[in-house]
Amino acid sequence: MTPITYRCWVEVSRRQIAENFHAVGSVVGSGVTVMPVVKADAYRHGAVEIARILCAEGASWLAVSNVEEGVTLRQGGITARILIMGDFLTFERPALIDYELTPVIHDIAQLRDFDRMAAALERPLHYHLALDTGMGRLGLLEDDMCIVEAVRLARHSRLEGLMTHFASAGNYSSPQTARQLQRFQTLQAALAAADVLPRYIHLSSTIPIAYGRRDAWGNMVRPGHAIYGYVSPARGDAPAPVLNVKPALNWKARILEVKTLPVGHHAGYGAMFTAERPTRMAVLAVGYADGMPHRLGNKGKVIAAGRLAPIIGAISMDLTAIDITDGAPLQPGDAVTLLGREGNISLDAQAIARTAGTISYSVLCGIGQRVKRVYY
Ligand SMILES: *Cc1c(COP(=O)(O)O)cnc(C)c1O
Repeated sequence: MTPITYRCWVEVSRRQIAENFHAVGSVVGSGVTVMPVVKADAYRHGAVEIARILCAEGASWLAVSNVEEGVTLRQGGITARILIMGDFLTFERPALIDYELTPVIHDIAQLRDFDRMAAALERPLHYHLALDTGMGRLGLLEDDMCIVEAVRLARHSRLEGLMTHFASAGNYSSPQTARQLQRFQTLQAALAAADVLPRYIHLSSTIPIAYGRRDAWGNMVRPGHAIYGYVSPARGDAPAPVLNVKPALNWKARILEVKTLPVGHHAGYGAMFTAERPTRMAVLAVGYADGMPHRLGNKGKVIAAGRLAPIIGAISMDLTAIDITDGAPLQPGDAVTLLGREGNISLDAQAIARTAGTISYSVLCGIGQRVKRVYY
């Protein structure tokens, strides 16, 4: 590994990303295409670098949220198929075509427009179609007849994929996933009856893969969280997970100052912390501008010299203070682990999210632009 000379950085394991991708592949089997989701800068692991790793490991499709993210991948040299899941606006159409990105279409007027574009270009354009089977977000809500008719009328474009997204996949006491699946299968059958057979059928993000909901795998899956080593705990009567993945990212920051607060001295904005003993405090080069959740103030922990050290006082924009009275001596320039593992002690995005009252996705995606990235 190259020497690290940053104040605050993440280290991403290429090997672990590859292993997580292959773990998903072996769970779903060779008949199912794994399309890793690298939106939001690959959950802040770095979209271009992660895409390169995944493509080198055999990924033929990647999914992102918007056209701009797709363009970033193309400019980074990624030639795999790229699915744009999060809709597109009129001004994004030229880039969609120029960079050969494949859109998900979410409404019938949009399908008509897209088909006119294909007609004008005089070459077929491929698209995936999203159904709102109950998620209540993007996707078609029309009845089967109407959708079948719209697809048939769009003669200049090619329906390549049919998809939906689950709202409650992790909640095994809810009947919603079964209902969504049923609605999806009804439309799939109506399309088949009209001889419309999309090449790809996809419904599943990480949770339905990880908990083995085979009837929702279709022949393509869209794992995001799992690629980065996470599976959220399911609720209700869930089966045991069939997927084993591990986090690939460690987040570190260096100590800027160490000093001892006398008894009665406060720490940070709002004087939220008061020293009840002489307190050896280390001030870290990380704050909420870097993505440290503000709600970890006086509550969270970091790993310092192999043991958990409490965060004291409020998280500032650029700084965070910790109590290292009980640990090994540390000095300015030494690094601590904000997220990751040191020896037997680990602090992953799920543990941090529980303390901060948020979700692991938000902790990862919150890692700021100022935090450097290192790959090993
Ligand atoms: C983000 C997203 C995914 C990936 O979800 P994970 O839970 O991270 O696996 C899959 N499909 C769609 C439509 C998404 O928006």
